[in-house]
Amino acid sequence: MPLNRETPLTDLPGVGPARAKKLEKLGLRTLGDTLDHLPQRYEDRRECCALRDAPRDRPCCVAAMAAETPRVSYIRRGLSLVKVKAVDETGTVHITFFNQDYIREAIRPGESYIFFGTVERQGNLFSMTNPVFEREGAARFTGLIMPVYPLTAGISNNLVAGLTRRAVDSCLDGLPEALPARLRKEHKLCQTQYARKNIHYPDDFEALAIARRRLVFEELFVLTCGLAQLKDRRSAGEGRVMEGSPAEFAALLPFPPTGAQRRAMEDIAADLRSGRAMNRLVQGDVGSGKTAVAAFGAWAAAKNGAQCALMAPTELLAEQHARTMEALLAPAGVRVALLTGSVKGREKKALLSALAAGEIDVLVGTHALFSEGVEYRSLGLVIADEQHRFGVAQRGALAEKGQGAPAGRREDGGEDSHPAAGNAPPHVLVMSATPIPRTLALIIYGDLDVSVMDELPPGRTPVDTFLVGEDKRARMYGFVRKQVAEGRQVYMVCPAVEENSGGWEDGPGMDLKAVTAYARELQERVFPELRVGFVHGRLKAKEKEDVMSAFHRGELDVLVSTTVIEVGVDVPNASLMIVENAERFGLSQLHQLRGRVGRGKHRSWCVLVTASRSETARERLKALCATNDGFQIAEEDLRLRGPGDFFGKRQHGLPQLKVADFASDMELLKEAREAAQELIAADPELKKPSHRLLRKKVRELFRENAELFN
Ligand code: ADP
Ligand code: MG
Repeated sequence: MPLNRETPLTDLPGVGPARAKKLEKLGLRTLGDTLDHLPQRYEDRRECCALRDAPRDRPCCVAAMAAETPRVSYIRRGLSLVKVKAVDETGTVHITFFNQDYIREAIRPGESYIFFGTVERQGNLFSMTNPVFEREGAARFTGLIMPVYPLTAGISNNLVAGLTRRAVDSCLDGLPEALPARLRKEHKLCQTQYARKNIHYPDDFEALAIARRRLVFEELFVLTCGLAQLKDRRSAGEGRVMEGSPAEFAALLPFPPTGAQRRAMEDIAADLRSGRAMNRLVQGDVGSGKTAVAAFGAWAAAKNGAQCALMAPTELLAEQHARTMEALLAPAGVRVALLTGSVKGREKKALLSALAAGEIDVLVGTHALFSEGVEYRSLGLVIADEQHRFGVAQRGALAEKGQGAPAGRREDGGEDSHPAAGNAPPHVLVMSATPIPRTLALIIYGDLDVSVMDELPPGRTPVDTFLVGEDKRARMYGFVRKQVAEGRQVYMVCPAVEENSGGWEDGPGMDLKAVTAYARELQERVFPELRVGFVHGRLKAKEKEDVMSAFHRGELDVLVSTTVIEVGVDVPNASLMIVENAERFGLSQLHQLRGRVGRGKHRSWCVLVTASRSETARERLKALCATNDGFQIAEEDLRLRGPGDFFGKRQHGLPQLKVADFASDMELLKEAREAAQELIAADPELKKPSHRLLRKKVRELFRENAELFN
């Protein structure tokens, strides 16, 4: 039977049921699967040297003849040695293998082998330890650029390499091509066969680069095709037409809007009057004034007889937003209400019936806004604030919930005396403070339109940031006292209380400042005269909010916390933030934290404390002292730590990529994205026969988000 992509691996020599099971863990069942199992790195085994000329600092291949039968000696339980001598024209090499008894049979005297390893040399004596070897002429594991694959226990790299070798040798003919020829030509991409062969067994590193480039492009192209389809689908949705002029709204603001705010509002106004459902992300650094932009949306909805739901991540933030909305919009006759978990009983009943009767225009709250029993009269706009942890899939769900509300779709065909309600889904506006590098935002929010607010309101006090070591601790505490004496308040941030904490008292994290213990120490020994409170993620929501409100009301001088305050309320009176073990945080996160101060008229400081001696750690932190530009910091963070840091593990909800790397493949991403948008515009459903494989690949990549494509 000739081998093909469907051949089960168990049909191949060397793969029994036990190994097959282990291979399945790697996602490998058929020969075709192995083509997609890409090397994580490569070992250059091409160089071949005579013993005498072998380099000392790196491995190379040596062709030599075994000059004796290998000798096995058992040193102790679990340790055996196989020794064998081999010769070439320039000398004799003594080779030692540890715990590889089978070698006694595998190496025969008088036969020639290629050994790959580092040749050690003492005078005229050559030796090698545990070299890779094979018969001269086999050229399977030596004399080439060797792929090194991700493995699992009980599966060797040689086994996997053997399988991919077979796949490359026998399965590439007729491998279907997902990228249209025109596209390959335009973007100078090699064919899929060439790419597959050379990603596994590159002829040289140039061929590898060419292969990799094509595969990265393909992956990003498939990804962005999927995202473009999602976006297409959403924006194809009808939306209620709403008219609203940013200039008219600006009269309600206590300040003239910044240019960035003006532009964001214009974007929103254009979406609202377009007749299509809005799906927009407003992305702006902390303090850039996103609330006013949200208020514009709410105002426009109300003016057009539609209701708006404004969702905040915490009760406290919801309360703050409700106050702000009330202050801004009540003068224009817009009715604002607050719905959180704490609204109960009679009060809640009254609120819900007012909502259903259309007597509330803007409902502010937590996710309670979309819980059972909350019925809108005419929901026209959903705003989600600080939802940067929401991925593609979650946003889909959000829009659905809006649609499920009675105003969106009436199944019963019942009386709908409200002509403006229509059947259109609500417009969606997402506000995010995470300064995601623009390039990355392109894909993460690829299905959204993005307005970037890259300008801070005037008169904001920039935060002076300093990096200090342990030697300055006493002085720093003195500074805290001084600020409090002047009537200010202080945040002190520590790294998170770990899930499995045991660690911080005796483990490697011993000297980490853990919140509870640190707060106690501060209160008892350092600041007995001050009011110290603490808050961390493991407190109950209610306890958390109580402490935060107390701080907000000025009943605490010092708030010790984890990063839970990152997405926080405005305490304009707080003028100093101290971050302990600053080296433990990502730059973007520190920047985000720092945004908690400098929100009032007072001069503000951020002090980063680190005991780290690492030059790189200190360099990173100094970058933060040098700039207040969140986007610049985000780019730096992306460069240094990769995208994982922005969202935690896979929180961005994007499919997992195999080849492409968000940090280093940005240029190619732009290219792939443009090409994808063009293609989707021409063939939105990927229905053309030449796009069939592409369509399949998009589905495969997004299989965890399949519901979005129905
Ligand atoms: P964000 O939500 O983007 O972090 P906010 O909307 O909370 O920022 O605004 C931060 C502060 O700046 C608020 O106190 C707000 O009143 C103020 N602010 C917003 N826009 C302006 C402006 N154009 N001019 C002056 N102050 C502004
Ligand atoms: Mg905000």
